[in-house]
Amino acid sequence: MHVLITGGAGFIGSHIAAYHQAKGDLVHIVDDLSTGSLQNITLLLNEPNVRFHEADILVWPELERAAAWADRIYHMAAVVGMRRVLAEPTKTLAINIAGCERLLRAVRAGGWHPRIIIASTSEVYGAGDHAVYKHEHFEEDADLIFHSGFNSRQNYALSKFVDEALALSYAHMHGFQVTLTRFFNTIGPRQTGRYGMVVPRFVEQAVDGAPITVYGDGKQTRSFIDVRDTVRALDLLAGLPATAGEVVNVGNDREISILELAELVRDRAGSRSPIQFVSYEDAYGAGFEDCRRRRPVLDKLRSLTHMSFQWTLEDTIDELIAAARRKREEEAA
Ligand code: UDP
Repeated sequence: MHVLITGGAGFIGSHIAAYHQAKGDLVHIVDDLSTGSLQNITLLLNEPNVRFHEADILVWPELERAAAWADRIYHMAAVVGMRRVLAEPTKTLAINIAGCERLLRAVRAGGWHPRIIIASTSEVYGAGDHAVYKHEHFEEDADLIFHSGFNSRQNYALSKFVDEALALSYAHMHGFQVTLTRFFNTIGPRQTGRYGMVVPRFVEQAVDGAPITVYGDGKQTRSFIDVRDTVRALDLLAGLPATAGEVVNVGNDREISILELAELVRDRAGSRSPIQFVSYEDAYGAGFEDCRRRRPVLDKLRSLTHMSFQWTLEDTIDELIAAARRKREEEAA
């Protein structure tokens, strides 16, 4: 199989690439390395069945050719990470919408029907406290609420929701075999804490014996899926004709509060890090509204794929702690 991965040097994209490389597929990665990094794919670059192209998909001249070559496309290229999304509102909208639109146009120009997976986000269910009260359910067919006025966090959800609408329109008009996957919090090896993601940050803080920074009261909840379970879910979804034209939540439904997560990471690391509460204002600036509760409804994913999870939160955290320790040892040496 020929697999094209946009954003393939990013956290999830690089795991998709590694998975297909190991299966013996021909893998073409395109990434402008703005969020992704070469380190994520170093080991893959020597493999004969992997090609990497450093390019911005908004202007990459070979996109049409790559889209016509591919049997399967994973569109993962996007501005992601709350810090970056908050800092770059115009870029978030422009890149996330225009990038997806250009990809869809390229596929159409290729005249061939690859199987397409497009990354969407659980943020479409509402990010702020207010929105989530109305959306306790997180079902794929729920009506969504967007607020008027400027809101840089919401821009991310909006950009992904427009991507969903674009892709569904192409599916409707041109028979595209596309599945929209709404990712819930995803964790695993090589995820960076640089853009604010909580698990890599807590792991590094615990390993360093530094204060573990819990934002707000720590009672907000999240549900974390290991990226290797995510990748299997995507492969299963892409392999099923019934998922074409569908929106599917991809996550793990074990819910944990952020304070419990801080304690869990600290315990697993055997660390003496104190837990330090930080106000949202200090963490993100004024006016930030956190999502109080996030847990995917997985009925659709389960009924379509019958998948079970291979990774528990504890297993993933243990592996991340071990990796962080190795990194510290290497730095010290
Ligand atoms: N968070 C935290 N400390 C940190 C980083 C994040 O308490 O150092 C919190 C954050 O406020 C949110 C949760 O952890 O409530 C998950 O944050 P992340 O940015 O990983 O994901 P998202 O908010 O997009 O679900």
